[in-house]
Amino acid sequence: MMLYNTLTRQKETFSPIEPGKIRMYACGPTVYNYFHIGNARTFITFDALRQYFEYRGYEVTFVQNFTDVDDKIIQQALKENLTSVEVSEKYIEAYFADADSLGIRRADVHPRVTETIPEIIAFVEALIQKGVAYEQQGDVYFDVTAYPAYGNLSKQSLDELKAGARIEVNEQKKSPLDFALWKAAKPGEPFWESPWGPGRPGWHIECSAMARKYLGETIDIHGGGGDLTFPHHENEVAQSEALTGKPFANYWVHVGYLNVDNRKMSKSLNNFFTAREIAAEYDLEVVRFFILSAHYRNPINFSREAMTAARSGLERLYTALENWRYYHDHAPETEGTEDQNQIATLENYRERFMAAMDDDFNTADGLGIIFELVKAGNALLTEKPGRKVLQRALELLQELAGVLGLLQKEDTSEGSLEDAVEKLISERQQARQNRDFARADAIRDQLKEQGIVLEDTPEGIKWKRVVNDR
Ligand SMILES: [Zn+2]
Repeated sequence: MMLYNTLTRQKETFSPIEPGKIRMYACGPTVYNYFHIGNARTFITFDALRQYFEYRGYEVTFVQNFTDVDDKIIQQALKENLTSVEVSEKYIEAYFADADSLGIRRADVHPRVTETIPEIIAFVEALIQKGVAYEQQGDVYFDVTAYPAYGNLSKQSLDELKAGARIEVNEQKKSPLDFALWKAAKPGEPFWESPWGPGRPGWHIECSAMARKYLGETIDIHGGGGDLTFPHHENEVAQSEALTGKPFANYWVHVGYLNVDNRKMSKSLNNFFTAREIAAEYDLEVVRFFILSAHYRNPINFSREAMTAARSGLERLYTALENWRYYHDHAPETEGTEDQNQIATLENYRERFMAAMDDDFNTADGLGIIFELVKAGNALLTEKPGRKVLQRALELLQELAGVLGLLQKEDTSEGSLEDAVEKLISERQQARQNRDFARADAIRDQLKEQGIVLEDTPEGIKWKRVVNDR
């Protein structure tokens, strides 16, 4: 498999440290709010990447943290009149609920800062001993000048970085680029006792400490949203490599931006959506389909049109599933060369799917192959295939879609096909009333491809199944 590595800015052949095993870490949410649709993209991407590795036979250990100590949590606690612990508990629970509905599986470990304090303190102490960190009035800072490779991940020179950095009034650091490993407690804030007095960890140190605790000194893959490359991931590399003298992560995987209506998502632009808000309007499987329909490194634009397209794409997959099931149940029990050839034709799509996915986890092309399989399966119906062939077609469709976490709904009875067809018919009638004949024709063609033909009758539009004549 080829994987793009931010560290080298190129696609590389993926090769894990230990054959057959993958140690993967992704930065999780700061739990002060419901996660937004941009976060959802990152979580879905790593969930699907993990699933694909497992499909390819790897044993994956996946760690995703919760940042449960942070300025934003402290502020939110004041706003909601809760304690910081209550705020983080509330939004960790919300994370799991929202992740579940997006089909995102639990990580093997979801470590929290509040449960990793001893490891964080030991890490910071060791950095001070190594001479790459210093204490200043209860704060501890990482000394960037003591780590010559700083800037390597984000491909920026120290001079460039220095030009962009500044010291906040309340900070005691020696150089603008130095960053806090430990912060002295301010009144009213949560704190822990440490060799430097009461305080709490800075943000970056938690991921270095957690990755080390659960995955070891060098891990295979570290990832997160692209916006974390600098300073967060740069700082993680500096801390970890300064401590161990070994590479921290062999592959850095970063997920592209999600825009809303072609603009950067922001509360002030009124285009900021949480996954929860989206769930009120769309089935979250549609969201997952939408996100995986783009390559993970490309920017993606969330819009009503894109969601409508995703919905009809997903419907096409479900309709094929239903339809093939119907034909399967009514197919003759045959077994012969013809059947074997048809099965071989279908199996070919698995190879093509894997080839697409092996090329830097290209889910966009992978989905494209799934649609080609659907087309081929629909075309096969004209040859009146035997039950075994249809059985294989069904299994294959569910297998490949399942790798992306799609088509997992159990409720795919005959009734849901009828609902889907009826919905498309009324959508088509609406389109005709609006004189949008292109859309009306597209719906008719889509149904036809799925073996469903519309008939105008005195009682209105009726539909029936026919074997395709293409
Ligand atoms: Zn992190």
